[in-house]
Amino acid sequence: MKTRVVVLGAGFGGLELTTMLSDALGDAIDIVLIDKGDAFVFGFSKLDVMFGREIPAAVRHPYRDIVKPGVRVLRSTIRSIDPAARHVVTDDGTFEGDVLIVALGADLDPGATPGLVDGGHEFYSVAGAFALRDVLPRFERGPVIIGVTGKSFKCPPAPSEAALLLHDYLTARGRRAACDISVVMPFGVPIPPSPDTSRAILAAFAERGIRFVKDALVRALDPARRVAVLSDGTEMPYALFLGVPVHRVPAVVVESGLAAHAHDWVPVNKKTLETSFPGVYAVGDVNGVGTAKAGVFAEGAARVVAAAIIAQLRGGPTPEAYKGAGACYVEFGHNQVGRVDVDFLSGPKPTGTFQEPSEALVAEKASFGSSRIQRWFGQPPPSE
Ligand SMILES: Cc1cc2nc3c(=O)[nH]c(=O)nc-3n(C[C@H](O)[C@H](O)[C@H](O)COP(=O)(O)OP(=O)(O)OC[C@H]3O[C@@H](n4cnc5c(N)ncnc54)[C@H](O)[C@@H]3O)c2cc1C
Repeated sequence: MKTRVVVLGAGFGGLELTTMLSDALGDAIDIVLIDKGDAFVFGFSKLDVMFGREIPAAVRHPYRDIVKPGVRVLRSTIRSIDPAARHVVTDDGTFEGDVLIVALGADLDPGATPGLVDGGHEFYSVAGAFALRDVLPRFERGPVIIGVTGKSFKCPPAPSEAALLLHDYLTARGRRAACDISVVMPFGVPIPPSPDTSRAILAAFAERGIRFVKDALVRALDPARRVAVLSDGTEMPYALFLGVPVHRVPAVVVESGLAAHAHDWVPVNKKTLETSFPGVYAVGDVNGVGTAKAGVFAEGAARVVAAAIIAQLRGGPTPEAYKGAGACYVEFGHNQVGRVDVDFLSGPKPTGTFQEPSEALVAEKASFGSSRIQRWFGQPPPSE
């Protein structure tokens, strides 16, 4: 009988894992890839749509385009997971795997921050970011806060990127002088593992008059008074609030027993990404392996797990341990992108190497995206 692999979630992690297994094993394996959505959207595309640099249709990659040997793609909501039996219940049937991959990402909970849903906006969900595309053109004046509302959030550079892109956006519309921009973050610097990247971002903020409020979270908005209340009780006025909502372990994962509660990401073996249940792996944002939450780390984790499954089936050498290393591109505005390579797990503490913003890195980031779409969806990269 063929080995059955059930992959829960077709995000960065699930897509990379499915692609590697199909490329290596083809019809010799039976993979079912399950996601409730109908299309993949890169996290960074949310910023592109929000600031009018792309239209929504251009950044949605429909799952129906995936045609790969050994792979069935199912659009359905996962309702329960039994990790001991590796049994999954969806709206469209039940599935059992010899191997179960949990790649369900992080859920967003804007309702956890009082006032955010009624009095602010969030740019972390696809719907929230796409809606801002119609809100930003009408914004004329006043203080803007880009505020983080929970300690653990994906893509730590994204709030800083949003501020730098907003500066360009308002400048192009002739509205920058009428607006203040502040970024509220729970860290002392924008990118803690990389002092050089943090220095460069803070210098870019200083040049553009963007205020960085460190070591703080936005706890609540008071829409009637148009103020944001920070974790230390300070109040900041806002005319436009762009929030990073509280992140939670998906409820179906907590209910499965894989995570103890909504803020306790799934514990895994740091080297193999295996959970405490044999044959059950957690890759990407859903796990608590100790990296930042970002697509590149989800992808790296997926590659380690896929290599282990391939080695098991083919009898090859044990693959290398997960290193928690990856490169993130950072939008600096002014049509420039920087790059930070972070290694979370090889040494005693995370380290990061910075590459100065340049136009060459804009092209490198574009090719990072198009090469993934080509591999995952089997499509050629867009023509120049
Ligand atoms: C504004 C922004 C910018 C970003 N920029 C970058 C960047 O430049 N580089 C980078 O590396 N990362 C970036 N990220 C982070 C990146 O998007 C995530 O870290 C990455 O997508 C995580 O991958 P994942 O596979 O763990 O989860 P996801 O990609 O979130 O995939 C999880 C999947 O599970 C599905 N799912 C969840 N629950 C269920 C259920 N019950 N039933 C069925 N399906 C379900 C979801 O529909 C989803 O498709 C950014 C994020 C944001 C918000």
